[in-house]
Amino acid sequence: MNKDWSEKNKKMQTLIGKEDTFSEGIDVLLELRDDLFKQITYIAESYPKDAFYQMPFAGADGYHSKTLVYSMWHIFRIEDIVAHTLIAGDEQVLFSGKWQKKTKSSIVTTGNELQGEEIAEFSKKLDVKAVYEYCKAVTESTNELLRSLSYKDLKRKFGDEDRKRVIDSKSVSEDESAFWLVDYWCGKDIRGLIKMPFSRHWIMHIEAMCRIKDKLCAQARKGVDPIARCGLSCDHCFLKDRCGGCRTAYNTCSYAICHPDKVCPNASCCIEKGIDGCYECDELEKCDHGFYALGKEVAAIKALALFIRKYGKTELMKTLDKLHREYEFEKVQEILGYDMKKGLKILEDKRS
Ligand code: SF4
Ligand code: SF4
Repeated sequence: MNKDWSEKNKKMQTLIGKEDTFSEGIDVLLELRDDLFKQITYIAESYPKDAFYQMPFAGADGYHSKTLVYSMWHIFRIEDIVAHTLIAGDEQVLFSGKWQKKTKSSIVTTGNELQGEEIAEFSKKLDVKAVYEYCKAVTESTNELLRSLSYKDLKRKFGDEDRKRVIDSKSVSEDESAFWLVDYWCGKDIRGLIKMPFSRHWIMHIEAMCRIKDKLCAQARKGVDPIARCGLSCDHCFLKDRCGGCRTAYNTCSYAICHPDKVCPNASCCIEKGIDGCYECDELEKCDHGFYALGKEVAAIKALALFIRKYGKTELMKTLDKLHREYEFEKVQEILGYDMKKGLKILEDKRS
């Protein structure tokens, strides 16, 4: 489990357990949920449309066997049902916000009843952006509920009336793979619900989403030129497990995702010029476009591009292999420094 998330989760559980630290515990819970939601936002905003219905771990035992958008739907349907139908006894966000229509969902249930291909088929039809907006609306609404809770509420239990309300909402499928949820939720008090649907359940599914997206990136990079257009080597990059590279649709390079269109300006500049990479450009040395506007910070990357121009990509890969065998480093500037020409010289010395 992600260390930060796990520690915050443990801290929150301890704090909410005592009356005098309860409200601090709720603050930690809201912080944790905020951290986790940022991961969902990153995925929703950075990945291509088809990433959301792929099942790279189909048939595996675990949450990672689902799709990205199914995971989003499932986490927030459960939260919506528990927060509104069970705890608050009011209307779910799905219904009050008419989200079934907006998301183009074929179901109103949690999705537990769907198996294998059914999950992919369900996911393909969803409007990912609308699902993301639904997730946001549910999060905000639940956060409000969490802020309104007092320490005494934690021991509140649920009875037959509450159970009936959940069943009558038709939000949980009668299939045995889903219906157990009703007894599971109704068997807990509010403290138990905070521990699962509102925190740990998020962590488990979002970690699974991270596994799915990383696997999709690895699949996308397979067989693709590992030299990024700026001159970096994706095979040697510290982000290689999380980025599909700038030559694929899974370009989740940290620089590309800062831009509104999620495309690295250097990559789009190369494409516009009809060249393979910045190493083929006459303006390279003086260029301050996109990534290169970072100046000294990226002088080492320009050194890589200059090296490719002189000796080719294969030589660069061999030289980087050598450097990584000899030194422990994450970013190439840690070895090549902050001067383009000096960086090139270091690479050339290592080559010989
Ligand atoms: S961040 Fe850049 S160099 Fe690293 S894997 Fe992504 S595209 Fe390749
Ligand atoms: S102008 Fe700059 S960003 Fe564009 S291709 Fe040339 S070196 Fe790369």
